[in-house]
Amino acid sequence: MQRSMLFLLALILASCQPGVYKHGNKNERAMAHLKANLEFLASDALKGRETGSHDIKVAAEFIRSRLEMYGLQPYGENGSYFSNIPFQKQGISDSSSITLIKGKTRGHYTVNRHFYAYRGGDSSYQGVEQPLVFVRFGIEDSTFEYNDYKNLDIKGKTVVLLLGEPERQGDSTFFNGARPTKWSRSSAIKRKLAREKGAGGIIVLLSPRGMNMWKNMKRFMGSSKLGLAQKQDHEIPEILIDSTLARNMFDIRDLSYDQMYKKLQDPDYDGSVLNGRSIQWNLKDQTEKITGHNIVALLPGSDPALAGEYILVGAHYDHLGMRNGQIYNGADDNGSGTVVVMETARQMAHIKGNKRPVIFVWFTGEEKGLLGSKYMIEHAPFRDNIRAVVNMDMIGRESADSIYVLASGLSSSAYHALVEEANKKSARFVFNYSLDSRDHPDRILYRSDHWSFAQKGIPTVFFTDYHHTDYHKASDDVDKINFLKLKKAVELTRQTVLDAANGSDDFIRDNWTEEAK
Ligand SMILES: [Zn+2]
Repeated sequence: MQRSMLFLLALILASCQPGVYKHGNKNERAMAHLKANLEFLASDALKGRETGSHDIKVAAEFIRSRLEMYGLQPYGENGSYFSNIPFQKQGISDSSSITLIKGKTRGHYTVNRHFYAYRGGDSSYQGVEQPLVFVRFGIEDSTFEYNDYKNLDIKGKTVVLLLGEPERQGDSTFFNGARPTKWSRSSAIKRKLAREKGAGGIIVLLSPRGMNMWKNMKRFMGSSKLGLAQKQDHEIPEILIDSTLARNMFDIRDLSYDQMYKKLQDPDYDGSVLNGRSIQWNLKDQTEKITGHNIVALLPGSDPALAGEYILVGAHYDHLGMRNGQIYNGADDNGSGTVVVMETARQMAHIKGNKRPVIFVWFTGEEKGLLGSKYMIEHAPFRDNIRAVVNMDMIGRESADSIYVLASGLSSSAYHALVEEANKKSARFVFNYSLDSRDHPDRILYRSDHWSFAQKGIPTVFFTDYHHTDYHKASDDVDKINFLKLKKAVELTRQTVLDAANGSDDFIRDNWTEEAK
């Protein structure tokens, strides 16, 4: 502890170059701050700023120390700049196993070889034996008058279900006839339904296409996963099994997996072969509790009458950490957005021209699934008083002349117009709206923290560079960053925030409907 604290202090002091900050004109000072901050945050010393790691704390501490220096007020918990987020790292022990019991025959199978675990389940399931029940797709959907659970008693039993959904030859009105329904998207809603119906355990069979990728799934399914801590009363064991185990379970050996899957899909196949068969669970849950931090700072507004209307400016500061011994520095993703928000905060704290209060946020857990922003919109004390949002993620690559803009008109056309005007008064980027669509195949609209706010109808704008070459690669380094673009992004952000903080427009949500969600 002592040593790491010293290490941390040393790094912070080493990155202080007060001389650079005090000389030169405004532009040169902005550039100097952006460079010094990004060179530190995207340096190897921070080992890729992975959420849940020790190294991301160094990044958080660095940002905190800068905010203090810039004169921003802490706006996290207990008078600090940090908002605590309860995470859990869900994993199970390598020694976990299951036993398939068929009469007197017992087959043992080990984790990450013959099965992957979604959840290990509570310790109360250790050694517990449960009867198996085949529930085909595990779907109950009144739209199609379809119910796989009809006449089945699954209480306390382990259900066995297939991924995907039923089809009827030539019938485009039935499930995926026209386009796959929600039931095909992932196993999550099927597992939720099974839990609600009282299942004691869940076994999922992949589609043949999924099964071809069994070995590649190990990197994701075979390692622990970070998520927001769940407050669940109890958890049941839930697993995904390989073709060997599936064949043994159903006594099907003469068919390919493809053929076997077709057979199990057939409404005439009743799965009665599982009658009298059971599974014994021996999964050892190793879920770990971890606290993460959003960093939150406030610049109070000058008009007390508007004190309850916040403008929020954000960027995620976490990245991917290390993989195969390589450090993923994430200079563009999202060191770039991180330092642009820092520099915007510094300049605005200096100018103090905002009537409404401005909240600056550096989100954690974005790379793990927008966790920091999801937590904020559900828990922050100011969550119902956010007037407008500016978020940026990857803005330091490609041409300094243009920038991709998304979501600005999703809720309010007035906010869309405000962002356009702010740009004309400041950076004069060419705005590229080609990604700003719900149907764009890359789904950029849903892929950063702005979505947590936009989803609630809050007027929100998202800036990004749409860079590909070094995206999520160890080569996303600071020497490739276009600092002129970052400086212009600061100007655009500052103007947008000032106009939103000082304008009288109500940002009527004229484009927002319940269906828009
Ligand atoms: Zn990112």
